[in-house]
Amino acid sequence: MTSISEFISYGGGVNSTAALLLLKPKVLIFADTGGEHPETYRYIEEHIKPFVASYGGQFTAVRASDFGGKYRRLQDQAFAEHIIPVRVNRWCTDKYKIRPIRAYLKRNGLLPVLQMIAIDAGEAHRARDSRNDQIRNRFPLLEQRNRSGELGLDREDCIEVIRCAGWPVPRKSGCFFCPFQSKPQWIALKRELPDLFQIAVQLERNGSNYGRLYLAADKPLEQWLKSGRIREGDPEQLSLATPCACYDG
Ligand code: SF4
Repeated sequence: MTSISEFISYGGGVNSTAALLLLKPKVLIFADTGGEHPETYRYIEEHIKPFVASYGGQFTAVRASDFGGKYRRLQDQAFAEHIIPVRVNRWCTDKYKIRPIRAYLKRNGLLPVLQMIAIDAGEAHRARDSRNDQIRNRFPLLEQRNRSGELGLDREDCIEVIRCAGWPVPRKSGCFFCPFQSKPQWIALKRELPDLFQIAVQLERNGSNYGRLYLAADKPLEQWLKSGRIREGDPEQLSLATPCACYDG
């Protein structure tokens, strides 16, 4: 166990990957819901872990089940309890992202600590203090200067940092069934990973305890995907993905 006074909360997406490249933090903690997109797991294995090891850093993945959680994966709880992740109630973020990190820090005597969260300049309004008095949040991307000398790196700046390192740009982080995905992302999931898309459909059908709440909109996923006009891969539409509460795009 490395003694730490600060760590980066690594989410697997563009922002925290750029922050990692810029800061080379001694410790990264990744809260793994068990339902992250397969590309995210692959990216971590192919790029993140080797890079962190190359400068002697420590990559730690934490899961709710490591700290008394009954279920190994977020979707296991959702199926067992007939619920779904929903935008109006972020139980999933709390239980599978925030709490496991806090529990890990507490169990290992690492509190108090400085938690670095990779919020970019375009979403600076999300930068808030921690509600835990033993954790102080720091937002390193907001402290960096961009190429024009202005304070704060936005998403494009983060993409540039990743490209300059010669790495592919990671997909948006998050669970494959995340309700904060955009329509093109759902369409891509259905086309590229139909088995996972079907799990999301089943999750929604099974979520009877949330009544008429659905994963993506005000109607069942498959019905919603058939409605409206959308151009798959349209960057404008893709940017409509709502930032989830999991702190990394
Ligand atoms: S990525 Fe989405 S579904 Fe997964 S924990 Fe975060 S908000 Fe919930």
